[in-house]
This record gives sequence, structure tokens and C-alpha cells, in this order.
Amino acid sequence: MRHLGADTLVIATHNAGKLREIQALLAPYGVNCISAGSLGLPEPAETGTTFVANALIKARAAAEAAQLPALADDSGLCVTALGGAPGVYTADWAEADVFEGGPKRDWYMAMGKVEGKLVELAPATPRDCWFACVLAIAWPDGEQAVYEGRADGSLTWPPRGTLGFGYDPVFVPAGDTRTFAELDPAEKHAISHRADAFAKLVAEQFGG
Ligand code: IMP
Repeated sequence: MRHLGADTLVIATHNAGKLREIQALLAPYGVNCISAGSLGLPEPAETGTTFVANALIKARAAAEAAQLPALADDSGLCVTALGGAPGVYTADWAEADVFEGGPKRDWYMAMGKVEGKLVELAPATPRDCWFACVLAIAWPDGEQAVYEGRADGSLTWPPRGTLGFGYDPVFVPAGDTRTFAELDPAEKHAISHRADAFAKLVAEQFGG
């Protein structure tokens, strides 16, 4: 198994929320991080049908373009009563109309779409869900490593809280009454799907 050395690590995401969380999670390990956006790397099409496939597409594309090891995250919200949807299509459900300057993501609309589908099924549909996160590291020579994490919880409506990003305002983690968007970032980092995947990455890459 290849390990990250003192090289710069490209964070292969153009999502500012994910970038912030990944940098915070890696900070204790002294890794020199640089974002794909700041290197001007293009965003590859996420054509995979699994989180693992899409994380690898993003990590491989960045590693090859930058000739540096690259870390990508593919994540999403999976709702049990919707058969795991939106899953790998979580970001797509937020695609609003195309405005001047390109497509716009509307997270409030996306959260409402999930809520609407649940209510359509039956008012008392179970609201169990989980956030999934796959972290993939790719090296320019083709080596790769994959780490999977999840956070279980339930959906609430209406959205609550102003912290975090994406679907955080409707996700109540198991064992809590607050949404991810009402948790202090450090509290979210301790229990999130990204933290779960990171714990596995850290154990293997940095020895614990
Ligand atoms: P992708 O991995 O870039 O395809 O996007 C996954 C989408 O899932 C993100 O754009 C968010 O909307 C959602 N998502 C992933 N992780 C989180 C999280 O920690 N909180 C809230 N939403 C998330």
C-alpha cells in the first residue's frame, strides 16, 4: 500500500464546503494541500453509478493533470424510503434553471424535492437516511486507495440552521436533535460521514 509522503496533495473538489472540511480534517497531519480549482484543473464528468467510481474518476483526473497525488470525495444523501436516492445524484437534484453564467445549484429546492417525494409516498413515511462519503487517493503512476464512511440519521422539515453546506439543514444525525447545520463545525467533523472515511484514511496513511 502506497503512503502519502511530503508531497503536495491536490484536493480534487470544486465544492468550497467540502474543500474547507477536508483541509480542516487534514490539518493535524501537516499535509500541504492545494485545491484543484486553484490549479485551474477542469472538473471531469461524474459518469460513474457508484460513489467509489465517481471518487476515483475525480482523483485520477486530478492526479494525471497535476502529476501529484490527489484526493477526491464523492458523497451524497441516501434516503431509505427512496431506495437510497438521491445517492450519487445528490448534487444533480439541486440543479436549478440555467441562469446567466451557467447552471445554478439550489439546495433549498433540492431539500424540498426530497421532502416532497417522502410526503408523496405517505405522510408517515420513515425518514431514515444516511450520508455516504467515499474518499479516493490517486497517484500519478496509477496506484489508488479508497476509504468509505457513513453517518446515519433522519430527515427533518423545515430546514434548520445556517452552518455547513448542502443538505445539512435537514439532516439530524442519530442520537442528536440538532441538524448538521446547527452543529458547530468541530462537532460535525467528529461524527460526519466524511470524518468516518477520514478516520480510515488516517489509520492507513498516517498510522492512526
Ligand atoms: P458530489 O460528491 O460532488 O457529487 O456532491 C455530493 C453532494 O452531496 C454535495 O454537493 C452536497 O449537496 C451533498 N453532501 C455531501 N456531503 C454533505 C455534507 O456533509 N453535508 C451536506 N450535504 C452534503
